[in-house]
Amino acid sequence: MGGRRIQAYTATGRMDGACPYCQRDLPEWPTRSVPCPHCGNEMLVRTRPLDRERVLVTEADAEMLEMQWELLRERGGASPLRPLLDDEELEAERASLRIRFGREPSQEDVAASLISHRSFEHMRRLELGGYRDFMLAKASLLDQQGKEAEALAGYLGVCFLDLNGARNPPSPGPGGVAVRVAGMVTGFSIDHAFLAPPVIARTLHLIAIADLDEDVVRAVFTGFCERQFQTLRAPLRPHETWPPLGDALFSQG
Ligand SMILES: [Zn+2]
Repeated sequence: MGGRRIQAYTATGRMDGACPYCQRDLPEWPTRSVPCPHCGNEMLVRTRPLDRERVLVTEADAEMLEMQWELLRERGGASPLRPLLDDEELEAERASLRIRFGREPSQEDVAASLISHRSFEHMRRLELGGYRDFMLAKASLLDQQGKEAEALAGYLGVCFLDLNGARNPPSPGPGGVAVRVAGMVTGFSIDHAFLAPPVIARTLHLIAIADLDEDVVRAVFTGFCERQFQTLRAPLRPHETWPPLGDALFSQG
């Protein structure tokens, strides 16, 4: 694999009650930094960014973890994005699922069902701005459920739509006739291409957690976009949108 990499969050430190220097078992788990009773080296207690576990580390490890925390703060993507869904629409969806299931549906069922209905409607009408927002809600929901690999693919898909300038068609003009704007008939307008900073931040975070290199992420991106968006006839193909996206993700070290 020759792809670029970003600094990952690592499984540094020991969680098994052994000294991080001499690896020998400790009589008890230290609650604060103390010297090892066997080798005398100072063992530090730290929380690591990867999974928020408390671990015993060496002084060098502690510095590395501090650097990872610094990066995590800079990247700003430490919490899943919140799926933005309308409360009234959620209530209506809940009522219809309650009838279909014959029982109270779970919160997640309601959200997933609403997202799938609404994204399909928007896609059918080529309201690709709305479609993009529901694709983002879908990725965020998967992210909140801890399905990190699926969430990553979903966020990358949102970046693909953004780099193609996914837009809603112009609203009807005064006579009820759609105003024609060049380039808008397909629902894409690459003049409006952009990348959303919160989506990039969260994507970086998921890449750092899973420690993926650029080749792997590009393969996930291409595979997802080809499966999901082929029928949309986006002006730019996945391989054409990768260069700016790859730079946004991997040129920051
Ligand atoms: Zn020791």
